[in-house]
Amino acid sequence: MTIHVVGTDEGKDYLNGNVILDALCALNQKFAHANIQFFIKDDFNYINNSLLFAHDKVTFPKVPALFSKYNVSGTVNIYFVRDPMGACGYNYMPGGKSMGIVLSNDCTNGKDANWAHEMGHYLSLPHTFYGWEMETPNFAQPAPHATKMGVEVEMADGQNCAFAGDGFCDTPADYLAGRWYCDDKGISITKQMDPSGAYFCSDGSLIMSYSLDECAERFSPNQAAAMHSYLGEELAGHFMDSAPCAQLGSVGDILKFPGNKVVVNTLNRKIFFNWEKAPNASGYLLEVSLLANFGTTVYRGITRDTSMVVDNLTSSRPYYWRIRPFNAMYVCKTYSAVRSFTINQTTGLPVLNTLHEVELFPNPVHPGEDIRLRFEADENMKLQAVLVNTLGAVVHQQNLQTNIGNNEYQLRPNQLLPFGVYWLWIKGDKGALSRKIVVH
Ligand SMILES: [Zn+2]
Repeated sequence: MTIHVVGTDEGKDYLNGNVILDALCALNQKFAHANIQFFIKDDFNYINNSLLFAHDKVTFPKVPALFSKYNVSGTVNIYFVRDPMGACGYNYMPGGKSMGIVLSNDCTNGKDANWAHEMGHYLSLPHTFYGWEMETPNFAQPAPHATKMGVEVEMADGQNCAFAGDGFCDTPADYLAGRWYCDDKGISITKQMDPSGAYFCSDGSLIMSYSLDECAERFSPNQAAAMHSYLGEELAGHFMDSAPCAQLGSVGDILKFPGNKVVVNTLNRKIFFNWEKAPNASGYLLEVSLLANFGTTVYRGITRDTSMVVDNLTSSRPYYWRIRPFNAMYVCKTYSAVRSFTINQTTGLPVLNTLHEVELFPNPVHPGEDIRLRFEADENMKLQAVLVNTLGAVVHQQNLQTNIGNNEYQLRPNQLLPFGVYWLWIKGDKGALSRKIVVH
């Protein structure tokens, strides 16, 4: 699948990546017993287009050209938008070939069957109530033998199941074309009457029905077989016989920086986060929150890297952070341990004039090589050395106890520093000074 995340022309209001991961997890769970799993090809494709973001029946004629523009061939193209013509989603199939599935951000979450339902259509399945899309019969009298669409009406006892309704004999009769709640047995409260006068209720567990999403959880064996043959005949280039990636391993304490419960100094509110690779992961969701339970987050972002710089963390309360690794197919919630830190904003300090001949060497320094710091001090002081990158993000910090006279220290960042220019800030009660160092 190619996941297109659509925002406004200004690049606002994208659906959050963690919601997409939750929804893809649910999609694969609902398709597991049908022996079909979906995986993401390449990164999410972010699109800024207000027309696609919210379109109705009037503006829809301009939408297919956008599918042509953005679709990636050989994949199922999924578009997450705010308003797909007032629906929870649709599968656009001009001439019987899908150009894309469009899903509403509001209807996308980790439990609903919305995505699975549209994917069922994509893989050729009709509704279980096929034929009744345009009308609702009077349930107090026997249904006609054919719907206005000309579809033979399925009998409650299934005697004509191979030709009537959706044509599957393991999906029972269903005439409910509006959204409906299932009861505690998973069937419809509305009783319907078939052409012979027999009453029946609809099966809400079927994803291709219009039962509300809490009950819809399965495809029937015949529906699954139909999807498999459609995949083989029509979508041969779309699938792989084996999984494109391995299951995620268990995620231990992979968080590296900021260290747990440290006070992080930042000169411009930017914080550098860094973690270790998780087994079989190809992407990471970073979550930063002021709540230990992550009930709300102040930042969420996705990267293929094992580090990220986050801006505008302005609170003096402790921040909590964790990582959710994922790969193209295994996206269900798996979190790292949680760590916390606080931020100490330092600005406007006077120049520290009690240090002289401050020198960093070697300079340039190679990645992984220790950086040595040397200076002469006028007095015994407690200082802090803070190494920041050009974004102002702190990549290393350590405390220095100076003595009068010559002082020399080894600075050993606990991560390999990428090539680039860095600034070492030395800060104390009386002020701060900085020196440039190049990693090359
Ligand atoms: Zn449908």
